[in-house]
Amino acid sequence: ATPTAVMVATGKGASLGVLIKGGNALENAHKVKTVVFDKTGTLTVGKPSVVSSVLFSEVSIEDFCNMTIAAEANSEHPIAKAVVEHAKMSLQKHGSKNDHFTEVKEFEVHPGAGVSGKIGERAVLVGNKRLMRFFNVPLGSEVDRYVLENEHLARTCVLVAIEGTAAGAFAVTDPVKPEAARVISYLHSMSISSVMVTGDNWATASAIGKQVGIQKVFAETDPLGKADKIKELQLQGTSVAMVGDGINDSPALVAADVGMAIGAGTDVAIEAADVVLMKSNLEDVVTALDLSRKTMSRIR
Ligand code: ADP
Ligand code: MG
Repeated sequence: ATPTAVMVATGKGASLGVLIKGGNALENAHKVKTVVFDKTGTLTVGKPSVVSSVLFSEVSIEDFCNMTIAAEANSEHPIAKAVVEHAKMSLQKHGSKNDHFTEVKEFEVHPGAGVSGKIGERAVLVGNKRLMRFFNVPLGSEVDRYVLENEHLARTCVLVAIEGTAAGAFAVTDPVKPEAARVISYLHSMSISSVMVTGDNWATASAIGKQVGIQKVFAETDPLGKADKIKELQLQGTSVAMVGDGINDSPALVAADVGMAIGAGTDVAIEAADVVLMKSNLEDVVTALDLSRKTMSRIR
């Protein structure tokens, strides 16, 4: 595209809340044949809330909540915020305070899995099954049943282990964005195919995929796995746009022909992307692709 055409298009984009970082992004976008979406915070609203919780071991509700709050208070993940809020409410309901949650030692974030740390002398893990497997926490049939039941309802389960034993869990819902299904079906009408890549589990991911009509789902992928998926699609000869909001999406945003960050997402994702959707509305994926198509057809 000519510098003038690029300037006009990026200006138009900016006025619509679609920030296009330069001419390359604009030129690449018109070739896109596949759009890959992250799930949490991209297809879903990203405001998860806890709908149920359960205890699996002899642990007291106070201890369970305090340990969970201690571990998750340090996490930026929206699931962590929901879990902390719920645990604080449970404590209040039981007339107790969240007290021993200040000192977390050896705190670690495990992207796409959860967090770990030590409170006092006790080790705590908060996250998904993958995290539990990684730390060799045995999960009994009671845990399995709770997890399966909730995953099929499109909920994500957050497991808590204390000293290597499954102590309890939370079930979290995160509704899909109202425009998600419409945007995906519109992309299909443009002969663009749709894919989801998520760090979340297969059952929850498939349930969400069905709700929005996405064609292919890849679940339980870590950040580098997301980028690998993009490269795989590119090797099949298709030009790929990736839409994401998290730190965990940044390698994939970089790998994609066009990386699109949700404006409400993390700075790291916004940094890594070629296009920023300031309104965090998925309709603007189409706005960006349209803008590129129109600009490129005008020059050729
Ligand atoms: P997505 O790819 O859908 O945006 P993430 O990669 O951020 O999801 O996270 C994948 C999964 O890892 C979550 O669904 C959750 O099960 C787990 N997880 C990640 N961080 C946390 C955390 N701080 N607390 C609990 N679970 C977490
Ligand atoms: Mg996300």
